[in-house]
Amino acid sequence: RELLRDIDPEMFGLIQKEKQRQIRGLEMIASENFTSRAVLEALGSCLTNKYSEGYPGVRYYGGNEYIDEIEILTQKRALQAFNLNPSEWGVNVQSLSGAPANFAVYTALLEPHGRLMGLDLPDGGHLSHGYATPTKKISSTSAFFETMPYKVDPKTGLIDYETLSKTSKLFRPKIIVAGISCYSRNLEYDKFRSICDDIGAILVADMAHVSGLVAANVVNNPFEYADVVTTTTHKSLRGPRAALIFFRRGIKKKQAPKKGTKDEQVENFDYEKKINEAIFPGLQGGPHNNTIAAIGIALKEVASDEFKTYAKQVINNARQLVKTLQEKGYVFVSGGTDTHLALLDLRPLGLDGAKTEKALEAVSITVNKNTCPGDKSALKPSGIRLGTPALTTRGFRENDIIEVANYIDQAIKLATAINKPHDNQKSSQTTLKDFKENMKRNEHVKS
Ligand code: PLP
Repeated sequence: RELLRDIDPEMFGLIQKEKQRQIRGLEMIASENFTSRAVLEALGSCLTNKYSEGYPGVRYYGGNEYIDEIEILTQKRALQAFNLNPSEWGVNVQSLSGAPANFAVYTALLEPHGRLMGLDLPDGGHLSHGYATPTKKISSTSAFFETMPYKVDPKTGLIDYETLSKTSKLFRPKIIVAGISCYSRNLEYDKFRSICDDIGAILVADMAHVSGLVAANVVNNPFEYADVVTTTTHKSLRGPRAALIFFRRGIKKKQAPKKGTKDEQVENFDYEKKINEAIFPGLQGGPHNNTIAAIGIALKEVASDEFKTYAKQVINNARQLVKTLQEKGYVFVSGGTDTHLALLDLRPLGLDGAKTEKALEAVSITVNKNTCPGDKSALKPSGIRLGTPALTTRGFRENDIIEVANYIDQAIKLATAINKPHDNQKSSQTTLKDFKENMKRNEHVKS
């Protein structure tokens, strides 16, 4: 009876417009997806009314009988989804999103100003892995901890594990983060493990982008090697906006110093206690119970055969996209993909990521601009990141992806033509207007 459309037609109208945008366009942002109706139903349920600070069985509020059951069920499904033995791994399902989940892990395991290394943002890492410029500490991770980035080799586009190994011996971080936001190749967790073991560091894997693919066993699995694994739940995993933090159970014992070093290898850590306390009461108050239930539902879906087929198709689609565009002469960082995303390098075309993102948006293809290894500035990135999870959820197969690649090619060709310098230089706004008009004239390109 009290429908949103009647109570607040203005907000209802905006939500409807966004829904139409999502339906009509081609969603190719690598970190986005479409959740199921069941997940949306839980998000909009009565669970949003409940306060439940604490953990199952130890709450600071009454009336949590069913909330406890929901949280325990979601924890159980999280371990099942990644085939984890509950005697070896535990999971916290209360974190509100990916960046706060990572920050919680750092505050749990590092002292203030403790040291951490993560993949540099312009090389494909995430802000929350410690991004700072030479003049500014951009991420809180770099403001509250001492961070040093590791890089990809600009020639190959691949993580330079050798230099990471050398630098980590000098910087001696307590945490190394193995995780990516824009890196299309499998992470070699075994290499990260041995680098961490050499200096007694904790390996935190942030599998946010690939967790759906990890669950379906179609990319490398971090659980074999990592001490702590974080993930968002809304990317390839296809759940609500939130995060999970997995940790190895048990207290790590101090080990004897490695030959030739005087440092002890591993400190005394009870990951479970430290991480749970870092989330609550450390950083958060009441958990979002509607989201926790929605994560549980998404994880039930992850266990299905349909999800495994989807995950395989995500990678097949990404490979098809790269292949089709490469055949047309486009260049991709690292030469291809093992995952759900690919990074198109626009430097050979003389285009930049910002203009290309706008050009594709004009024909309802949503992507994001991204730095390519070697870019001088993160403000003027020279690539675009293309992802296939959302299109795959909508049922796209290789043949559809070939058509999508053709649309991308046509849009970029028009953008390149318009971008060519001419005597009478136009502003970028006029250029975009021209572009849109050109697109309308071009009968082959559908929005
Ligand atoms: N970690 C990685 C690897 C990510 O790619 C992202 C977001 O894109 C995050 C963490 C942050 O997640 P959120 O946006 O939910 O804070």
